[in-house]
Amino acid sequence: MTGATLKRDLRTGRSLWADSPGLGVHTRTLGKAISVDVAIVGAGISAAFMARELSRDHSVAVLDRRPPLSGSTIASTALLQWEIDLPLTALSERIGAASAKRAYLRSRRAIKDLKRIVVEERIVCGLHDKDTLYLAGDAYGHRALEAEADARAALGLESRYIRPADLRDRFGIDRTGAILSRGSASGDPARLAAGLLRRAAADGAGIYSPVEVLEAVSDPDGVTLLTDAGQPVRAGAVIFCCGYEFPKAVPTPGAEVISTWALASKSRTPCPRWLKDTLLWEAADPYLYLRMSRDGRLIVGGEDEASSTAHADRAKLKRKCATIAEKLKRLLPMVEFDIDYSWAGAFGESSTGLPSIGPVPGMEHAWAVMGFGGNGITYSVIASQIVSSALRGKPDTDADLYRS
Ligand SMILES: Cc1cc2nc3c(=O)[nH]c(=O)nc-3n(C[C@H](O)[C@H](O)[C@H](O)COP(=O)(O)OP(=O)(O)OC[C@H]3O[C@@H](n4cnc5c(N)ncnc54)[C@H](O)[C@@H]3O)c2cc1C
Repeated sequence: MTGATLKRDLRTGRSLWADSPGLGVHTRTLGKAISVDVAIVGAGISAAFMARELSRDHSVAVLDRRPPLSGSTIASTALLQWEIDLPLTALSERIGAASAKRAYLRSRRAIKDLKRIVVEERIVCGLHDKDTLYLAGDAYGHRALEAEADARAALGLESRYIRPADLRDRFGIDRTGAILSRGSASGDPARLAAGLLRRAAADGAGIYSPVEVLEAVSDPDGVTLLTDAGQPVRAGAVIFCCGYEFPKAVPTPGAEVISTWALASKSRTPCPRWLKDTLLWEAADPYLYLRMSRDGRLIVGGEDEASSTAHADRAKLKRKCATIAEKLKRLLPMVEFDIDYSWAGAFGESSTGLPSIGPVPGMEHAWAVMGFGGNGITYSVIASQIVSSALRGKPDTDADLYRS
C-alpha cells in the first residue's frame, strides 16, 4: 500500500470542474437600462434552476458581477443527495416530527425532479444515479443510525441499516454501522448549471456579466436595481441567488459562512466496484465524504473549519488536503491514488441544515435563496419551485419549512 502521493504538478487551488468542457454561456453587457418581469442576481446553480423555470413564462435577466458559475457552484463536489446534514431523528427534535418528515420528503422529490429536468433538457453533465453509504462516526454512532434507518423506512424512504459484519464483507469498511440509502446522484455541477442557463437563454433570458448589483430599491410596483454598469434594471421582482456572498439587504439569522476543502484524484483511479455507484459520507465532525466521477476520479472533501476566509489560505489548502488524503487512506486502505486537483471554498451552514428561501423582510417584490449545508444543489431545485410558484400566485405548501 502506497496510499496518496501529492505530485509537484498538482492543480492546487483549481477546481476540477473549471476544466470541464461545455461551460460556455452567452453573456451580454448591460449597455442600456432594461425592464424585465424578473431579475435574478447571481449566475450559479441556484440562479440557473430559477432562470430555467421562470423564463418559460416570464422575461428574465440574470446578472452576475463575475463570469457565470464563478461562485461556490464551480467548487461544489456535487453529491446530489436527499439526505439532509441533520438526520431525520435529530431534525425532528429541532423542528418537530411533521416538519422534519416534510423536509426529507421534499428533498427526495427534489432529487427526482433534478434527474427529470436533466433528461428533459438533455443536459450532458455526467449525471449518475447513486446509493449513499452513511457511516457511523463521532457525531452519530451505530445506535443512532439504526434508529435513523427505522425512522426513514417508516416514511417510505429507501434506507436500511447495515451491520458491521456486512459493512466489512460488502464494502471492506471497518465501522460500527452504516445506513445504505437509494435514490441519490452525482454529476458535474458546472456543466449542469451551464446547461440550465443555456436553456433559459434559449427561452429568452438575458445573462448579463460582469454586472454588480449595488443596491435594490423596491416600491409597490416592483424593484429598481442600481448596477456598477451605470444602467439600472427595472424588474417586477428580484431574486437574490448570491450563494454565500450574502447581499447587504438580506438578513441571515443563524447562518454562518465556513470554509471547506476538496480534492480529486487522477482519472481512472482503480477503486472497488461498489464505489462507482455509491456516495460515501460520515456521521462525524469534521466529516469526510467522497464519490467517484464518471471518468474514474475520486472526489473527496471535508475538514470544514469555522472561518469564512480560511479557504483562501494556500498553505492551509495543502495541509487540509493532506489530512483528507490521510483519512481516506485509513477508511479505504485498498485504494491507491494520486491527487490531481485540490481546491477550497466558502460554504454556508444553518443550525438545521435547511436552507433559507423566502421573501426579503422589509423589501417588497424581493426574494432570497440561500442553500445552506451539504445539500445546496438539492435546495437550488426546491428554491426554484417555491419562488416560481409564489410568483405565479400559487404558494408552495412547503414554503414555510424554509423561511429563516
Ligand atoms: C467545496 C464545496 C463542496 C460542496 N459540495 C456540495 C455537494 O456535494 N452537494 C451539494 O448539494 N452542495 C455542495 N456544496 C454547496 C453548493 O455548491 C452550493 O450550495 C451552491 O453551489 C450554491 O449555488 P448558488 O448559485 O446559490 O451560489 P454561487 O454559485 O456562489 O453563485 C452566486 C453568484 O452570485 C454572484 N453575486 C453575488 N453578489 C452579487 C452582486 N451583488 N451582484 C452581482 N452578482 C453577485 C457571485 O458572483 C456568484 O457567481 C459545496 C460547496 C463547496 C464550496
